[in-house]
Amino acid sequence: MRKLLASLLIASLPAAAALSEQDIQTAAKLRDQALQSSQAYDLVESLVVEVGPRLAGSDNNKKAEAWAINKLKSLGFDKVYTEAVTIPTWTRGTIHAEIEAPYRQHLVISALGGSVGTDENGINAEVAFFDSIDDLKAADAKAVKGKIVFINKRMVRAQDGFQYGTTVAGRSKGAVEAAKLGAKAVLIRSVGTSPHRFAHTGVMRYQEGVARIPAAAVSVPDADLIEAMVKRGQPVRLHLELSAEPGPDTTVHNVIAEVTGSEKPDEVVVISGHLDSWDEGQGAIDDGAGVAIAAAAGKLIKDLPQRPKRTIRVIFYAAEEIGLYGGYAYAEQHQGKSLAKHVLAAESDFGAGRIYRLDTRFGPEGEPLRQALAKVLMPIGVDLGNNQAGGGPDVSMLPAQGVPVVSLRQDGTYYFDYHHTPDDTLNKIKPDELAQNVAAWVAMAYLAAQNDAPLRPIPEGNFGE
Ligand SMILES: [Zn+2]
Repeated sequence: MRKLLASLLIASLPAAAALSEQDIQTAAKLRDQALQSSQAYDLVESLVVEVGPRLAGSDNNKKAEAWAINKLKSLGFDKVYTEAVTIPTWTRGTIHAEIEAPYRQHLVISALGGSVGTDENGINAEVAFFDSIDDLKAADAKAVKGKIVFINKRMVRAQDGFQYGTTVAGRSKGAVEAAKLGAKAVLIRSVGTSPHRFAHTGVMRYQEGVARIPAAAVSVPDADLIEAMVKRGQPVRLHLELSAEPGPDTTVHNVIAEVTGSEKPDEVVVISGHLDSWDEGQGAIDDGAGVAIAAAAGKLIKDLPQRPKRTIRVIFYAAEEIGLYGGYAYAEQHQGKSLAKHVLAAESDFGAGRIYRLDTRFGPEGEPLRQALAKVLMPIGVDLGNNQAGGGPDVSMLPAQGVPVVSLRQDGTYYFDYHHTPDDTLNKIKPDELAQNVAAWVAMAYLAAQNDAPLRPIPEGNFGE
């Protein structure tokens, strides 16, 4: 019955047949092979055990690049190469914070990526407490000057993690807004959903012409503690000491592997993750899982008896966490002719949970591919979603250059319990869920590489993620 439906579907496609019945069968076979394979898990296990955390620009980042080049070569890709990316560096140093008054208590806290440190005596100051960065922006300088700003914005759990986007401004822009009003430092309630006593780090930014003040995240239970003391109505005083330090620029690399297309090798399907991670955990779910998924999908296509029509390009992006440096460098280095030949791009960067939906951003002639994807992915629990995909952080700048993208949406219900914390570890990855990811990615990448109907022009607009 399913076969009959498939042939009816194919028969109803326009003359320039996007895909053949053979393509769809091969995609289904790749999908089923992926479900039986531990390749992605073996890759992320190897990365975690043999390298571990890999902060952009660190020695471990170099080790991770060497690991990636060796692995991708040993998997037998047709080409393995690197492209240079210039990035700023940062060292975390040490951190220490406590509440001094009204009740002396220790705080569990993590410096935000990019933050400057305090001097060796640290900062002693009263807390200026805000529920959100918007409340801080609206505040009078008198309420903030000389104080430590605390931004208490909570993030609520959701399958698609949508609240990350509405909460993260306090982390990324809190230091600038607090400094404009004369604050000495900024602390935030961790942007995360874990009740546990560790803080969620993440990148923050300074602005030209605004004082650079230290910035750190406080664990959720410690944020509760500060909030409870503030509610008692007396001034709350904190002591904060950190030795974080921005450093000189350095060069890191996007690591790239290809399965060369048999008919149109210059036309490229990009599947990707990011190789760097934060330094406090193991970088297993963010984003060891993503690079492992992309590489395992590429490897399955490479092992087919015949090369796909178009080239599959697996990219391990550099320095995503500190500001999408690898993604921007790639977009710049490939601007023009090369990007014009990118038939599709996508990144896996939302942990290792099951994929439940496929969003696309295709032009009208992409509909047959959407329907073929729906058909092949439905049996593994992936629904066809909207046509407003962003594609993932490191490819998010490509739709503006006309590149079609897809987003394979992962269940992020627990992702933000671990995100950017010491608890981002290998045991958070369930091998069967990771294999389901590879199954969806390999089928998607293969069909995109076989599809002959143009996916451009794509719908315009900044749909975000
Ligand atoms: Zn990530």
